Amino acid sequence: MTKMFIGGQSVDSVSNQTYEVKNPATGEVVDRAPKGNAQDAKNAIDAADDAFKKWRETSIAERCDLLFKGIDAVRANIGELAQLLTKEQGKPIKHAQTEIEHFLHGMTFYARLGPTTRGSYVPLPDTKMYGLVLKQPMGVVAAISPWNFPITLMGTKLGPALVAGNTVVHKPASTTPLTATRIIELLNGAGLPPGVLNIVTGPGAVVGEELISNSKVRRVAFTGQSDTGQHVSEVAAKTMKRVTLELGGSDPLIVCDDADLKSAEFATWVGRFFNCGQACLAVKRLYVFDSIYDQFVAALVARVQKLKVGNGQQDVFMGPLHTAAQRDEVEMQVADAVKKGARVLAGGSRPQGAEFEKGFFMSPTLVENAPLDSKMVTEEVFGPALPVWRVKNLEEAIELANQSIYGLGSSIFTRDLGKARYAAERIQAGNVWINSLHIGYDELPFGGTKMSGIGREHGPEALEYYLETKGVVIATG
Ligand code: NAD
Repeated sequence: MTKMFIGGQSVDSVSNQTYEVKNPATGEVVDRAPKGNAQDAKNAIDAADDAFKKWRETSIAERCDLLFKGIDAVRANIGELAQLLTKEQGKPIKHAQTEIEHFLHGMTFYARLGPTTRGSYVPLPDTKMYGLVLKQPMGVVAAISPWNFPITLMGTKLGPALVAGNTVVHKPASTTPLTATRIIELLNGAGLPPGVLNIVTGPGAVVGEELISNSKVRRVAFTGQSDTGQHVSEVAAKTMKRVTLELGGSDPLIVCDDADLKSAEFATWVGRFFNCGQACLAVKRLYVFDSIYDQFVAALVARVQKLKVGNGQQDVFMGPLHTAAQRDEVEMQVADAVKKGARVLAGGSRPQGAEFEKGFFMSPTLVENAPLDSKMVTEEVFGPALPVWRVKNLEEAIELANQSIYGLGSSIFTRDLGKARYAAERIQAGNVWINSLHIGYDELPFGGTKMSGIGREHGPEALEYYLETKGVVIATG
């Protein structure tokens, strides 16, 4: 059985309760995890708060050095970790490995960036005085992650938080606690002082709630659903924590008539069906110019029908959905669109065969002409189903793209860079990809507008969200 990691020690929940973590492809129990409660969360917060007193006094070089050691320890175990991630999350083993490599890349980015952190010197009107702008750590950070990319989304928070001199309590999604716990053990084993990095597993409504309300936590880094994000924001406001929210999305992809259709097609199917469509940043609505629509959609249908679905431990492109509830939701969204007049072009059902019976599998699905009031348009589709529409021109495509409560990512394919820039300036989203696969980069700030969230992860910009800015005035006499 796995254990939590609090104050430098592997511990059970004070309640002694545990729960099963199941493989979404087979229904088999992978392991049991501690069912943490509010007291466990308090213990972790207290340990992090105690550790902060010393950790903030360590040099940034030392903090980054310890992180590099931790990165090496995780890299040395990447095979075992990828297996575990596939078993608890469901994604194909190659993609699990890529996720852990991405985690290591992000952590390395911040370990290298740390020593470049600078405050500033500010001349003041009185020449005998000057000002300094200090960049200081904030204290205890609650890092709360979802189940779709449990490891990279943990890393986007741990890297900048630790480098900046904060201490962390991590709360993974309750269905994906295993790989995260193992990685936190490895990072601790590489020399982090006790209490600097802790993990508490268990239900969000109990463990997470304590993290977002406890006054010792000064910073909440949250990734998850928009509804949960709204709640986090409300609760955290009572103790004025700094909060960043990386939430849901419904990213549009526009294919213009002058696009390189092969690259647009590749970006569409990878962008929609990677991770079984369970990505915040994913192609969730497709708008294709009228004159190339038939050709483009026919090629896309043929490609999608060839995508290999199965247990992530085999050589497949798409594993199962993560839970039965997740599959029910996507099936219900497709059914709603069809009931309102949409046509299924590919998929639309569950794959047949004994190997699919115990898992939450769904065939990759394309749907044409979903009405604008259908759930596939008004809600986030967090699974392998893509609605597609024919559009007259760029104006219509942009107008439809912006008819969403979300504003996370977006893409456009065109050979005319003037047109691309015009669209990039008008699409309401935190990120725009032009003629490019819809993926995140550690080097570039990433985040949402509208219901997709507040703040940014990745890039040097993210580090700022983990630092307090203090003005100091010095009189020289
Ligand atoms: P979720 O909101 O259900 O859970 C996210 C995390 O919050 C989990 O760890 C959960 O245990 C915790 N939580 C639940 N209730 C809580 C509470 N009351 N207080 C504190 N924490 C609580 O989200 P999910 O279903 O795990 O993840 C899928 C969602 O995440 C999708 O909407 C997806 O788009 C979004 N997401 C966004 C990004 C991004 O960067 N914008 C990245 C990945 C996923």
